[in-house]
Amino acid sequence: MSGTLMKEQYQKAGISPEVIAFGAKIEEGLSDRFHKIDEIAEYNQMKVILAMQKNQVSAECMQTSTGYGYNDIGRDTLEEVYADIFCSEAALVRPQITCGTHALALALLSNLRPGDELLSASGRPYDTLEEVIGIRPSRGSLAEYGITYRQADLTADGHFDFEAIREAIRPNTRMVAIQRSRGYLTRPSFSVDEIEEVITFIRGVKKDVCIMVDNCYGEFVETREPVEAGADLVVGSLIKNPGGGLAPAGGYLAGTAECIENAAVRLTSPGLGKEVGASFGVNQSFYQGLFLSPVVVSGALKGAIFAANCYETLGFPVFPNGSEPRHDIIQAVTLGSEEGVVAFCEGIQAAAPVDSHVHPIPWDMPGYDSQVIMAAGAFVQGSSIELSADGPIREPYNVYFQGGLTWYHAKLGILSSMQKMLEAGLISLA
Ligand SMILES: *Cc1c(COP(=O)(O)O)cnc(C)c1O
Repeated sequence: MSGTLMKEQYQKAGISPEVIAFGAKIEEGLSDRFHKIDEIAEYNQMKVILAMQKNQVSAECMQTSTGYGYNDIGRDTLEEVYADIFCSEAALVRPQITCGTHALALALLSNLRPGDELLSASGRPYDTLEEVIGIRPSRGSLAEYGITYRQADLTADGHFDFEAIREAIRPNTRMVAIQRSRGYLTRPSFSVDEIEEVITFIRGVKKDVCIMVDNCYGEFVETREPVEAGADLVVGSLIKNPGGGLAPAGGYLAGTAECIENAAVRLTSPGLGKEVGASFGVNQSFYQGLFLSPVVVSGALKGAIFAANCYETLGFPVFPNGSEPRHDIIQAVTLGSEEGVVAFCEGIQAAAPVDSHVHPIPWDMPGYDSQVIMAAGAFVQGSSIELSADGPIREPYNVYFQGGLTWYHAKLGILSSMQKMLEAGLISLA
């Protein structure tokens, strides 16, 4: 195709020739990395297909159930497929798990008992877990049930602090939580190799702890998942990576039969466990989204790397930087001003297939101590495997960018963010 034709297409989307040229130059330099990402996607695509074949996923599995949901072959088979993909004994994959926080809360509340202690080995947990744990007093928290909490902070450069972890492990430490992704922090994300190293260390200090990895945003980024590194339980959201953009809601847990059974009887009821839970027509989207997920994740990763390299070249601090290896799909950019965060998010919104005409503005989001601006033009509300960005309006004015169901859409979003920054006089491409 002629370059002119392509340029015209981007210009129709409001991207100026100088932004197009700047993006093209950055993209040229990324072909080796993109090739490696494609290889991981190919490997993980095979992993998903093999798990579906092994478990004889059939046309019947796409059917639905209502009421109690007894004998829902689609639901039960999907849980076997997840268990194979995550190399675990069992899995719980349900639309009744409403989001990632719910999945994590379920894992914790079902596997801890009064008197037990939870240790976070990766420092401060994700914001919403503070209320689950009771770090911020909250109704129904672990603290209310007499479950205590301790935290081993990361080292100053964001790595596991092995000595701090050793000291924090007590006789009643029952679970250890590790967060793979950076969340709303600029610390590094952890590779599965690093997670393996810390798990081996933890087991050396105390053998009988249950190690849970918050796997949000990490699925299919590497060829291995945390259970292969020794975790007892991995937890995530279906409106992030493994839902492939098609799952309309839901969460999953994969882990030992014991951990999963504990979670199942807490999600439904003692005595009922995994036997109940209607699938309400979601089976097909869960399967099909999982099937697409490795490729969707690869597109999101390319977008994150492209964004890192564009904004790094423009002189902004980016986490991870343009050349670091990736362990999740999140990209943080320090834009340094409220105007920068707003312009970036406006650009992402303007590139969306849904709600491209709306203007995101900062608002007082529940659970956050500063205003937050969010850009999301998603088919599934709140889905962050779809192209999305959010930024708390506070120093140092970071924006967190993730997703994109296709690389091309992620690319358009980033070009559009630079276009808005340019129009606001915040960057210069000369
Ligand atoms: C998104 C996320 C969560 C919480 O998931 P929600 O679906 O937003 O409730 C927890 N931990 C990490 C690391 C996440 O990225």
